[in-house]
Amino acid sequence: MQNIDLHNHSRVSDGLLAPADLVRLAAANGVTDLALTDHDDVGGLEEARQAAKQQGIRFVNGVEISVTWQHQTVHIVGLQVDPDNRSLQEGLQAIRSGRLARAERMAQDLARAGIPGALEGALRHAHNPNIIARPHFARFLVEQGLARDVPSVFKRFLVKGKTGYVRHAWAELSQAVSWIRGAGGVAVLAHPGRYALNDLTLNTLIDEFVQAGGEAIEVVTSNHTREQTDYFAAQVVRRGLLASRGSDYHGPGESRFEPGKLPALPLSCPPVWQRWAPPAHPEPPASTRSS
Ligand code: AMP
Ligand code: MN
Ligand code: MN
Ligand code: MN
Repeated sequence: MQNIDLHNHSRVSDGLLAPADLVRLAAANGVTDLALTDHDDVGGLEEARQAAKQQGIRFVNGVEISVTWQHQTVHIVGLQVDPDNRSLQEGLQAIRSGRLARAERMAQDLARAGIPGALEGALRHAHNPNIIARPHFARFLVEQGLARDVPSVFKRFLVKGKTGYVRHAWAELSQAVSWIRGAGGVAVLAHPGRYALNDLTLNTLIDEFVQAGGEAIEVVTSNHTREQTDYFAAQVVRRGLLASRGSDYHGPGESRFEPGKLPALPLSCPPVWQRWAPPAHPEPPASTRSS
């Protein structure tokens, strides 16, 4: 049985586990094909690939690129990218260099609210100092006794309108998609149900993503409700796109689903992994497939 999970984080970005430990957990959970998709960094792929080889599971090179679209942060996952591609590397490097300046401003805002030492505190949680992200701040705030756990932090801090939030310009949507495609990869719109966009704006986002060369939508992901999964499955079918499945796992105690433990893709949508692993048997005619 296939169990394909194409969205996972390690401590190379804001996950908690080393890449090899993530792979071992995924293999123990029965994952047969795993992508590591750290934010804006491909530095964990080699370690993960070797661990996957040892575990006898297939490994997919991935990355999750931070994008600003219409003043909103949107994430684009790249799958099967060549991590040595020059433009991809330069693009990711540019995004990473913006993260430290943003972190300094976040820490200043927290200090003004009476929470000193947040930059140093967050950096202590960042295994890769080049990727300083909000979960590192969140773990520091939990450590300080300011919230019970990481999800609770995001209710009171670090989000728009709350202490510690800083506006930031990430990459442009078209840039992110072209870096991924230029590196031989497939661009996937990550967790679309998570963006605070109305249907019309969401449709415009998908239109622009497709115009830029985006080919897939993450239909099954840990924070989608059943209704959202069905909604995006219908979008995939209507637009002739591909569908992805990924847990967006960040580590023990921080994620709703462990690698491989989330629902299957709806049968109505063509899976993105057909791109690199075409089905062994021809598909049944559309009329016999459940929807
Ligand atoms: P950053 O790239 O620094 O803006 O951090 C974004 C990361 O913060 C996401 O990839 C998630 O891992 C985490 N995050 C954002 N919002 C929430 C939330 N409401 N609850 C838990 N984690 C969140
Ligand atoms: Mn994250
Ligand atoms: Mn994301
Ligand atoms: Mn993610």
